[in-house]
Amino acid sequence: MNILLIGSGGRESAFAWKLSQSPLCDKLFIAPGNPGTAAFGMNVNIKVADFAALKQCCLDNQIDMVVVGPEEPLVKGIHDYFLADEQIKHIPVIGPQQQGAQLEGSKDFSKQFMNRHNIPTAASQTFTRETLSEGISYLATAGLPVVLKADGLAAGKGVLICTTLAEAEQELTAMLTEAKFGTASDKVVIERFLQGIELSVFVLTDGVNYKILPEAKDYKRIGEGDTGLNTGGMGSVSPVHFADAIFMQKVEQRIVIPTIDGLKQNNIPYKGFIFIGLMNCGGEPFVIEYNCRMGDPETESVLPRIESDLVDLLKGVANGNLDTKELVISDKIAATVVCVAGGYPGEYLKDKTITGLDNVRGSMVFHAGTYADGEDIKTSGGRVLAVTSLQDDLFTALQQATLDASRIYYDGKYFRKDIGFDLI
Ligand code: ATP
Repeated sequence: MNILLIGSGGRESAFAWKLSQSPLCDKLFIAPGNPGTAAFGMNVNIKVADFAALKQCCLDNQIDMVVVGPEEPLVKGIHDYFLADEQIKHIPVIGPQQQGAQLEGSKDFSKQFMNRHNIPTAASQTFTRETLSEGISYLATAGLPVVLKADGLAAGKGVLICTTLAEAEQELTAMLTEAKFGTASDKVVIERFLQGIELSVFVLTDGVNYKILPEAKDYKRIGEGDTGLNTGGMGSVSPVHFADAIFMQKVEQRIVIPTIDGLKQNNIPYKGFIFIGLMNCGGEPFVIEYNCRMGDPETESVLPRIESDLVDLLKGVANGNLDTKELVISDKIAATVVCVAGGYPGEYLKDKTITGLDNVRGSMVFHAGTYADGEDIKTSGGRVLAVTSLQDDLFTALQQATLDASRIYYDGKYFRKDIGFDLI
């Protein structure tokens, strides 16, 4: 079958690598892709939310399945667009329709969903400009620190953790009355702070059946020792030792099953990945957030641990018989180190030539923010490359990924040398 993969980051490079290994995959197209995905298929220069061009690409290339990497096209309704068009409605789209994507697109929607289905999460209330004064009163009762979340998508920047009441009041006011995060902060969820260790759990579902994919931990801060500004993600590790069998059983019983059942009860069709951001609070799981797609850079650690044919699993999603498919997960440990551009996550350097990719020995290199300039590969984004090593033990995986990250060169390159070492 011919597959169209949508996206251009490290996550999509890992998807392209994995999908292209399947004997079921004849031709793989990636829109728009990057120089890394070009090694596994054909890049087509189409933006992720240009639905009309994506449709034409499907017709031109007899596409049999569309796999959506990032949230933007899902939240904008790519799945609904395909279903509504006679010419392409037969092509399965892996990723939820707009309503299901609201689990990520609206934090208020996802909190209401969790509360409706008794899914453990931090206590919260949602406020608008009209209810600002009630919001300020609520802040006084919510304890400190307190978490303020812009309702809509804000490129990972819309969550503020305030340590004083004065700061929280000021930020809430700026979000609701000064559009601090544009229309994303027209509504703000005020949430109690959860103390614990974070991890990400990934679920693949056809809307009825589900498979729990390998879990992962990601490292969001720019600085070693998890310090400094938040980023899109500086590295990841899978598996996570504190997600033991007892914990994962709680996750399945209290969170995964009620989530799938809740979607069914609310008539929300959902075919695709659910990313559940969790806090492990003394052994008890609480949901921090849902995303309607895989994480980046978690995907780069998760997919290498899936031994089964991913295309076959996705066919199960499309056909509603995921229960008949096999998911085999490797016992090996995957560690991913992300190389970023100098200056990131602030204003960062671009157009720097990358060398040393051939020196990498024991890792896979997934391209993220790169472009081809003639024979050269150059940097284009904040997160440039994800270097993943799959090994028998965590220490070797971390050491190898770190060593291979150091073998790559470009002006201003930075990566964290402590990814995963807290887990040893
Ligand atoms: P991202 O784009 O990074 O996934 P987001 O903007 O969608 O993030 P959340 O994941 O809800 O927002 O929150 C971002 C981060 O803030 C979380 O990863 C977590 O570290 C922290 N956080 C969110 N909610 C809470 C909470 N209730 N208690 C403690 N920390 C929290």
